[in-house]
Amino acid sequence: MRAALNRICLDEVDSTSRYLREQAEGGAEHGTLVVAARQTAGRGRLDRRFESPPGGLYLSLLLRPTSGVPDLTLLTVSAALAAAEAIEETVPSLRVGIKWVNDLYIDGRKLAGILCESALSPEGGAEYVIVGIGVNLRRGVLPKELEEIATSIEEASGALPDPLLLADAIAERMLSLAHDPALALDGYRRRMILVGRRARVSEGERSYTARVIGVDGMGGLIVSRFGRRRVLRFGEVSLRCRK
Ligand code: ATP
Repeated sequence: MRAALNRICLDEVDSTSRYLREQAEGGAEHGTLVVAARQTAGRGRLDRRFESPPGGLYLSLLLRPTSGVPDLTLLTVSAALAAAEAIEETVPSLRVGIKWVNDLYIDGRKLAGILCESALSPEGGAEYVIVGIGVNLRRGVLPKELEEIATSIEEASGALPDPLLLADAIAERMLSLAHDPALALDGYRRRMILVGRRARVSEGERSYTARVIGVDGMGGLIVSRFGRRRVLRFGEVSLRCRK
């Protein structure tokens, strides 16, 4: 079943997720999609800045869960897979990998970032969830300091997809995958980068090296350190390729 998308297009906004939150508070429906050509204050996790100049795709999608509080990690898993699959469907020459938990990578460089946020109802359930996704489309538009760590669809493939078609494809895929976390986990696991490799883990102030084993059924990252396995939960944890 294809869910209906109600798409709002903006030339510029501070943050598509901030804007959509306002719409959600005003009663916007499940499936409302905000797409902007530029964000002046795009955010990543832990309030980090997500550079959002013209030449990228910045979107936020509103989900209104029908029951209970959805697990944000599993929604992030669904969003990452939805975006990876939609990008490959649009530009078939690309192979998009996922770095736990919320980043899309091509050839070791970041193509897209994802941030899922929820608002709780007074009864304790989730009133709504906002899935924010930023994808670099055009080459040469990001600040110099990101040149080595970021890439774009144009840089990786030579193709420049229509932003609105790609936005719809990502949102439609997300709306259907959100109902099937088992399928999403399966596809996510197959795209994970760094599996079997050593990576730098940062947990708040602590930082250490561990071998990446995979992802558990709740979307937690399984790592091995000194022969002992432990599961890291989304939140304060960052993962970096070891230099
Ligand atoms: P990471 O491991 O990349 O820091 P993260 O999930 O902790 O992952 P996010 O919160 O998703 O990071 O995004 C913020 C970070 O992404 C910034 O600190 C910066 O390094 C990088 N970044 C910012 N803008 C872009 C962009 N347009 N494309 C790629 N990377 C970006």
